[in-house]
Amino acid sequence: MSRLQVQAAMGEPLQRAELERLWAWERVMVRYYAIATVLLFGACVLGVVYSDVPWLRRSLLGGTLVVVAVAAILHERERCPRCRGRLRLRAGFILRDRCTRCGIAFERPPE
Ligand SMILES: [Zn+2]
Repeated sequence: MSRLQVQAAMGEPLQRAELERLWAWERVMVRYYAIATVLLFGACVLGVVYSDVPWLRRSLLGGTLVVVAVAAILHERERCPRCRGRLRLRAGFILRDRCTRCGIAFERPPE
């Protein structure tokens, strides 16, 4: 265990407000990934159907880059409340059980 992980294990768990902020961010990430999947799938279909239209191909490529860039920005907006480290997600949008840097537990939202 690193020094940060030892501190997190000995320290206080995250406060409710910190957890709620993480949960809200995770909900945004899940929704964005659902929308992005539909958009990227639609772009693929259009790209195949209208593959002979150069301006459409370029627009779809540009749109795809925007969707990916927004995902990266959303990901960067939130950090671990304890160590301020980057949050590593499962499958790109699901919060892990613990911070991979300091080891603080991220509780799941109540059902
Ligand atoms: Zn952390």
